[in-house]
Amino acid sequence: MTPDEPVLPRIRPEIAALPPYRQGRPADPNGFKLSSNENPFDPLPAVLEATRAATEFNRYPDATAARLREALGERYGVEPDGVLIGAGSVALLQAFIQAAATVGDEVVYSWRSFEAYPGLVLIAGASGVQVPNLPDGRHDLDAMAAAVTERTRVVLLCTPNNPTGPIITSAEFAAFVEKVPGDVLILLDEAYAEFVRDPDAVDGLGERVFEAHPNVVVLRTFSKAYGLAALRVGYAIGHPRVLDAARSTVTPLSVTAQSVAAAVASLAHQAEIDARVDELVARRDRLAAGLREMGWPVPDAQGNFVWLPSDDSQAVAGAFDAAGIIVRPFPEGVRISIGEHESVEKVLGIARSVVPSVPSGSGGPADSVER
Ligand SMILES: *Cc1c(COP(=O)(O)O)cnc(C)c1O
Repeated sequence: MTPDEPVLPRIRPEIAALPPYRQGRPADPNGFKLSSNENPFDPLPAVLEATRAATEFNRYPDATAARLREALGERYGVEPDGVLIGAGSVALLQAFIQAAATVGDEVVYSWRSFEAYPGLVLIAGASGVQVPNLPDGRHDLDAMAAAVTERTRVVLLCTPNNPTGPIITSAEFAAFVEKVPGDVLILLDEAYAEFVRDPDAVDGLGERVFEAHPNVVVLRTFSKAYGLAALRVGYAIGHPRVLDAARSTVTPLSVTAQSVAAAVASLAHQAEIDARVDELVARRDRLAAGLREMGWPVPDAQGNFVWLPSDDSQAVAGAFDAAGIIVRPFPEGVRISIGEHESVEKVLGIARSVVPSVPSGSGGPADSVER
């Protein structure tokens, strides 16, 4: 160390080794940002109105977000005590993991899945056990159940799975829960539930899975279908005593009055939200069908995104980038969010030009189905 370099505080080495969060860059004016699974629609007028009316900036918000818990409790037929609100469902995932798992404990999840999972497990001090997805992008629930040991404290299930797209079926979920000891917390991450059209998909709230199995907590968010990503509001529904654990670890007062007002107003305008979601689902199905026609082995797409498996995802993402479309590359493929109406044809046009550029025999569209 040279004398000019300041001494910095000691940080846990596993934290110091983490790359800081880097947000996808914005698209240029004529392009589209399809890299963060954001909702392309502007806020509903009633939602804007509700946030503007929440002007008591000098007061702390209601720490329990009672209005929103009541509205959600009514919607899903549960007591308000069975609903917990967080500043995005990622904050709730973190609170539950933190509450249940620490050094020496294991958290089982599928991989590739939501990119936040590894960091949340690491921050808690626990060890992640990553179970590879099946070749078609689904969770390998048999392997996940087999990965549960005495050290397992939490299992994360993501349905539809971000970034690959397929759901977990009700039957698969029921069989899985039976195999996992009742003292292991199962977090059912349903961030994209509103976009699901497969009738066989597990619906944690509709099926009230947390009643038969108090170790299951269902997590949902207003960031995707409801288009409130900037306001940071998500919720967990489960057994009140299980939710208490996260109530103890979540940062108090992090859900603002404006977020609560926007979420409550959104629930009061559900028909308009549903119409937008239907439109996004139609765009998704059109995009997935068009991509499959070209030979891209797109797995079942039940969220607001499609997955292009590829061994050369940087090149694929680069081709989109060059055409003004920002997508999200992962080592195993590229995720493309469903965005503006005009973006669908544009994505199809670029994808068509990319197919021939992926070397055959090296994991391109034609042969990556087998992986
Ligand atoms: C987007 C997303 C969330 C929720 O994000 P918040 O904005 O924090 O509510 C949770 N899980 C998955 C898998 C997601 O993709």
